[in-house]
Formats: sequence, C-alpha cells, structure tokens
Amino acid sequence: MGVLLRGGTVVSAQGMAELDVLLEGEKVAAVGKGLPAGNAQTVDCTGMLLFPGFIDGHTHFDLEVCGTITADDFSSGSRAALRGGTTMVIDFAAPDKGETLAHGLARWREKAGSGTACDYGFHMTIDGWNGGISHEVGEMMALGVTSFKMYMTYPAMMIPEDDMYRALLRLREVGGIAGVHCENDGVIRALVEEAKKAGQLAPSSHPRTRPAPLEAEAVGHLLRLAQVADVPVIIVHLSSRESMEEVRAARRRGQTVYVETCPQYLLLEDSVYNHPDYIEAAKFVCAPPIRKQEDQNALWEALQNGEIDTVATDHCSFTTAQKRAGRYDFTRIPGGLPSVEHRGVLLYTHGVAAGRISPPALCRVLSENPAKLYGCWPRKGVIAPGSDGDIVVYDPAADGVISASSQAQRADYTPYEGWKTVGSIAQVYLRGQLAVDHGEILETQGQFIPRGKNQL
Ligand code: MN
Repeated sequence: MGVLLRGGTVVSAQGMAELDVLLEGEKVAAVGKGLPAGNAQTVDCTGMLLFPGFIDGHTHFDLEVCGTITADDFSSGSRAALRGGTTMVIDFAAPDKGETLAHGLARWREKAGSGTACDYGFHMTIDGWNGGISHEVGEMMALGVTSFKMYMTYPAMMIPEDDMYRALLRLREVGGIAGVHCENDGVIRALVEEAKKAGQLAPSSHPRTRPAPLEAEAVGHLLRLAQVADVPVIIVHLSSRESMEEVRAARRRGQTVYVETCPQYLLLEDSVYNHPDYIEAAKFVCAPPIRKQEDQNALWEALQNGEIDTVATDHCSFTTAQKRAGRYDFTRIPGGLPSVEHRGVLLYTHGVAAGRISPPALCRVLSENPAKLYGCWPRKGVIAPGSDGDIVVYDPAADGVISASSQAQRADYTPYEGWKTVGSIAQVYLRGQLAVDHGEILETQGQFIPRGKNQL
C-alpha cells in the first residue's frame, strides 16, 4: 500500500507548485494534480511544504577526537538527523595512519553497521600518497565512495602539499572530488604556543589562535594548487568573508570551486567564547572557530547570491562533561558542535522566514546541490517519479523552540538553546516509509548509498 501526500506545496530548486505526491514502495511513483488515491493511504498536506529529504554532506559520528569519542554514534546521530529532516548523511571515513583506504572503509562500514536509521555514504580521507593509495582511489570510486577529504591542519591527518597535489591529479583522472579543511597549520601552532606562554589558556584563546586570515590563506593556497592541477575542489565549512573573497578570485580565473558552509557560521558570533563560565564557552569550540558579525553577513550575502553551494553541519558532538577535558588548556577541548538535528529548522527560520532566501534556494543548498555534488542525483535531492521517497513535510505554521531537553542528538546541550523556530518538521519519509511523525522517531533501516561522480 502506498502513501498519497495530498494538497501540499512541492518545493524544488527551480520553484514551488501545489502537487500531490504518491509514494509506492521505496520510490516516488507520481507527482501531479489530483492524483487518484487508489488503495494508497491519503495524508492531508494542506498548508505544508514538501521538500526532498535533506542531505547532510558533513557529519562525524562515532569519531575519536582528543582521546574521547563523539557523543553521537551512527545510531543516535542518524535518528537525530531524520528528526531534523535529513534522510541521508555523508560521514568521513579515515584509515588509521599508514593503513589502506580499504581499511578505513571497512572500519566505517562496521561503525555504521545495521544501526543506522537514515541513508548514508562516506567520504574517504587521504592523508598521504603512494602507488597503493593511488590505485585504491580507483577502487573507492567503483565502490561508490567518490568524494575524498584532505586536511591542511591537524598534525594527525594533514597531508603534505606535494602529496595533496598528486592526489588532486589522480582525482581529476578518475572523476573524484576532494573537500579540503583549509587552515594554515604552522602559524596556528605558533599562535597557540604564544598563547600558552602568556598563560592564556581559556577558550577565548581558541578563536584568537585560528583567525580568519589563516583560513583565507589556506583557501587561497589550496585554490592555487587546484589551478595547477586543473581540478575542481570543495571548500568545506567555509566560515569567513576573507575566505569567500579567495573563492571569488579563483572563480574569476575560471576555476570550478564548490563552497560548503554550516549553520554555526551563519548564525553565531565569536562573543560566545568570552563567557566567564568555562563550559559555556567551551561548548562552542570548533574549527574553524565561530567568526564575527561581518563574516555572518558576508556568508548570508554569498548564500543569497548562489555563491555557496551547500549548507552542511560538521556535526561532531560532545557532552559538556567531555568538553570539560580542556578546563585548564583550551587546546584539549574536543572540537565540534552538535547540530545535525536542527539544520533544517534553523535555515528555514533564519533564511526563508527571515526573508533572506526562498524555499527553492533552501532546497538547493540542503537537498539538490548536495545530491548532485556527491553523485546521488536524481535518486536523492528531488521529488520526482523514480526518485527515492525521501520527503520532509514542513509545517510553516507550527512554531517550535530548540532545546537540549527535547533533542535526540546525544549531547546534553545545543548551541541554539531556547531559539524559536518558525514552523517545524511535521513528518519525514525515508524511501517511502514514515520515519518521523511529529517528533516521534519510528523504526527505519538506513542503507549505504553508492554514489557516482559530481553532477553539479
Ligand atoms: Mn568536519
């Protein structure tokens, strides 16, 4: 028996129309006006917006950071994702140092196991280069792992730039794409040393030791290497006005550059680090750090202009007890924020309802663009016959409040505590099956989604 979503407004990146949607089995069977119900169960969606399931292209579940493991594993993280309208996440797999990519993929497939409630894929981390890894990049592509991650900072994971260049050349050859964490490692290390010498060990030193120009420098640096390698790249979690300027410069040269930002860079400002209570400030420690109001404004402007392609979360959750590890030294605070559950309502509230972006623009950055960029369109990212029945039923009239007390993600706080939302997510369907009903998470089984090449 199918499900007929009747009378809602179907949103795509191109526009909106009042259309019925018929789900049969795992797929969208039909989209049109006045579809006959047949023996399908009819759900009245009058007044609702129907978005294609949101895709979060940047999550870290079950990840070891600073000697501790993220509060969310694939089970809790995927349930929180679904509750927020995210029907697919792409997490970051990584081999242990010196191990094969196959080793990294096997580890992450084991982590995702059978307990992942939403659909998922993996990016593969490349932290060095040799003939074996080069060969394996081709194997990863064949297995549907078509996007890769490289770090320009973090000594445990960063890749030397000659290796990064070689990796980019190989990705061009096989049609893969890299997302890169851009921050200048050396000067950050020097600034951290200065802060420690001066006895400045509070969380307020965190943003001061990772200033925006050091992100912009790394973005510019990467984009020049990509220019020489003649290959498109993705700047992940871009956080600042100055970095956006580097992207614009590269695009003016004719380069293809994709940009991801995150809700925390659109919505928060760096005064969060000045809170006198250590824990209140440590809650916001992530890299790149939260920036200034002018950066927020620049990112919204870029989002409005279509210069930002995707909004993902970089969900990497820790409890306040875990954050306490850095009580006497800000460099020991496990970095990351919980937000996989709230990206959709935050972007709807502060983007659509605030008049900054349209529902189709929201659909573009949360659904269509990530599906295309990460090679799973039109299976994902659009409500059309033959696509997976991944649907977010958004009720613009049911206002809500974000609170840790009512969230599914396992951190005991949210950076958005007490924030009001315009509307809320009424229901979520995953491949034709009701996965969330007014906040209640139902039993679903996520699937590994093999992905193809970038289509954006
Ligand atoms: Mn990340």
